[in-house]
Amino acid sequence: MIRGIGISKGIGIGRALLLESAEIDVQELYVEDTEEEKKRYREVRDRFVRETEQTVKKLCGRLGENDKTAMILKNQIYLIQDVEMNSGIETLIETKHMNAEAAVEETCSVYSKMFAAMDNETMNQRVADIEDLKLRVIEMLQGISQADLSQLQPGTVLVARELHPSVTAMMDTANIAGIIAEKGGDTSHAAILARAMEIPAVLNVRDACAVIRSGAQVIVDGEYGEVFVDPIQKTVDIYRKKQAQYLKKVQELKKYINRETVTADGCKVILAANIGSDKDAAKAVAAGAEGVGLFRTEFLFMNGLSMPTEEEQLEAYRKAAVICKDKPLTIRTLDIGGDKDIPYLGLAKESNPFLGYRAIRFCLGRVDIFLMQLRAILRASAYGNIRIMIPLVTCVEEILAVKKLLMEVRHDLDRRHIAYDPDIEVGVMIETPAAALMSDVLVKEADFFSIGTNDLTQYTVAVDRNNENVAYLYSVFNPAVLRSIRQIIKNAKDAGIEVGMCGEAAANPKMIPLLLYFGLDEFSVTASKVLETRKNIASWTIKEAAAVAQKAMSMYTEKEIVNYLDEYIEHKNETMVKVNGGDNGTVV
Ligand code: PEP
Ligand code: MG
Repeated sequence: MIRGIGISKGIGIGRALLLESAEIDVQELYVEDTEEEKKRYREVRDRFVRETEQTVKKLCGRLGENDKTAMILKNQIYLIQDVEMNSGIETLIETKHMNAEAAVEETCSVYSKMFAAMDNETMNQRVADIEDLKLRVIEMLQGISQADLSQLQPGTVLVARELHPSVTAMMDTANIAGIIAEKGGDTSHAAILARAMEIPAVLNVRDACAVIRSGAQVIVDGEYGEVFVDPIQKTVDIYRKKQAQYLKKVQELKKYINRETVTADGCKVILAANIGSDKDAAKAVAAGAEGVGLFRTEFLFMNGLSMPTEEEQLEAYRKAAVICKDKPLTIRTLDIGGDKDIPYLGLAKESNPFLGYRAIRFCLGRVDIFLMQLRAILRASAYGNIRIMIPLVTCVEEILAVKKLLMEVRHDLDRRHIAYDPDIEVGVMIETPAAALMSDVLVKEADFFSIGTNDLTQYTVAVDRNNENVAYLYSVFNPAVLRSIRQIIKNAKDAGIEVGMCGEAAANPKMIPLLLYFGLDEFSVTASKVLETRKNIASWTIKEAAAVAQKAMSMYTEKEIVNYLDEYIEHKNETMVKVNGGDNGTVV
């Protein structure tokens, strides 16, 4: 058995598929037989066209004719069949005796530069399509085969060094039984996506790619972070039973779907969901969420090979707003950078990406992209109860700058008689120590707060949320983080604005008594955790939560706090089971 961090509950049993992350190294070589080299290139080109056509067909069947990725792939087919491009490649092979890989690299680079120099955003975006095409053709020439993620065998367990969010765009999620990766912690974006897709996942598994071969039978226990490779039949039988028990527990939680979210003594709180696409909004509402506390819009930008247009964004935000009806839909403006890259934007590599050009800093630098997003959000606000939320704020000036741009967009829409919600709220994510320390001032400019504990923890404790070497320090139960959360909530309440939490901690059973005592108004959790969180909240009275929270807050170390909360909740669960068979008991 090998261990990692269980970050998405459930038991997955299936066959491993190793995702190679190939390093492309193109060397220019002299080839004697240029006819043979041209033939080798043509064969690969024709295979590229055949395989890409098949993927397009599958994508259109699954997601419709207008699917964006399918359209980009179609463009790549036209491009590689383009007479000029082909003659460019073949001329280099013939006249310079260049190997096909180098000829493809050189010709595609000429096209990339040409598109990049055009004074037209759409054309600039084609650069990423060409780069993608170039890499895939070179990989084929070098004999590196990539798994077709859009068509997986049922029961596939993906094994990767790191699961980049962009890889998930092509994933045939229905057939994925589990995910194992060498990198990534509980709040990495791979983890967040795995939970949203309800796929059992274990990350941070040392040497997983070396230990697990493709085709091996594997068991993934996403709760305890355990992975079994080629297990004996007895282990498989045990885990099949555990899988059935887990699914039964999930089924039992269904009775909480149409209930209010209230504590055992009747104190009402809001329970919302975190989503990454308009499709997730339907899942969230079906799971009983009372709105969306966080729409991570960056996935719209990452799930394609080019930037979503204003109309495409409008459509996604509008659809989500319509699904939420009168329930609030909190749209977070583009939060890229850090561990979320968008290749077609060609962002420079930074030595400290989490401290660099990300989130609101990027948006205020690329006002063209930001204005387009604000326009799409405002236009969508005519169709539902939309709120805007700004990520990674560190100072008042950033909120004022956003409001100024928003005003520009409003004037523009007024001029063109386009409808929007004039009372749209603008909230702020409190996820940096600067924002936490300034929260008594930020309340004056924000309509609401949402605490982003994933980042607040990493910045408060100075621990990269994806670095396994310092993962032992990354804990929301660090007393410094808890004090920060308590103060943020107090400042929001003193000013009379709503305060929520959309970081992963909002669904943590050990955090719930503390957050209830601090007075958190809204818990926003991944859709798969909505019912579990509602059940957990229902198990506490405010009096009991206050006693537990006060004791935890009097302790000086993270370990003491975690041990105390673990023991308390374990004892509470046992008592609940004895008294009423587990109904209203905390689910840990
Ligand atoms: C957070 O930082 O807590 C958060 C919700 O944002 P993200 O995880 O997308 O950075
Ligand atoms: Mg964040």
